[in-house]
Amino acid sequence: MLPLFYGDIMWNGKNKALTFSYDDGVEMDRRLVEIFNEYGMRCTFNLNSGIMTPESCWTNEGTVIKRMPPEGLPELYRGHEIAAHCVTHANLTELDDEAVLHELMDDKSALEELFGCRIRGMAYPYGAYDERVLRIVEDCGFRFGRTVNDTHSFAFPERLTAFGATCHHRYGGLEELVDKFISYESDEPAVFCIWGHSYEFTVNDNWELIEQVCKRLSGRDDIFYGTNSEVYL
Ligand SMILES: [Zn+2]
Repeated sequence: MLPLFYGDIMWNGKNKALTFSYDDGVEMDRRLVEIFNEYGMRCTFNLNSGIMTPESCWTNEGTVIKRMPPEGLPELYRGHEIAAHCVTHANLTELDDEAVLHELMDDKSALEELFGCRIRGMAYPYGAYDERVLRIVEDCGFRFGRTVNDTHSFAFPERLTAFGATCHHRYGGLEELVDKFISYESDEPAVFCIWGHSYEFTVNDNWELIEQVCKRLSGRDDIFYGTNSEVYL
């Protein structure tokens, strides 16, 4: 629902909020968490509870990408948010209702058990969803679901269960958006949400990109740094 009064949306009295959304729970998340922690960034990590094993790996341009086993993950992700990304990273649009329910609800309960907290949101594997899937996501009680339909804007999403981030970190206009967000001054709330996968920084050999973005956006009094739940709910 689009809020009627923008004045209702404020974060600790600030009207600019920055959040991150990173998927798949792979080993490179360790380095990403370190960078986020160094600069005071808060991220929502979307995880697949049924394939948390190094055997769940693939190769991307010569880089072997491994998912992490569950041991130690609560410590690793402390201070950030965990959200669902389906038990087996399945394309939900290709499954029947029962299988969609399993992918969503069993991921939610396994993650709640592992992390000892409530799971409020999810990200769609492959960004795949349709009206049927969306209804099941809502019926399951998820309050937000991230798609891959980037908005390139700071507008508050109209439908949280199928919201688009502002942009993927590889978006060519990212630097311009960072400038725009830093200089943004308006009474209307502005949300800047950046998403991606940590392994892309290794594959593309550009870890300095996320480091620079975090550095530039960090330590500002007029920006609220929050997880997806803290920013959107
Ligand atoms: Zn994914």
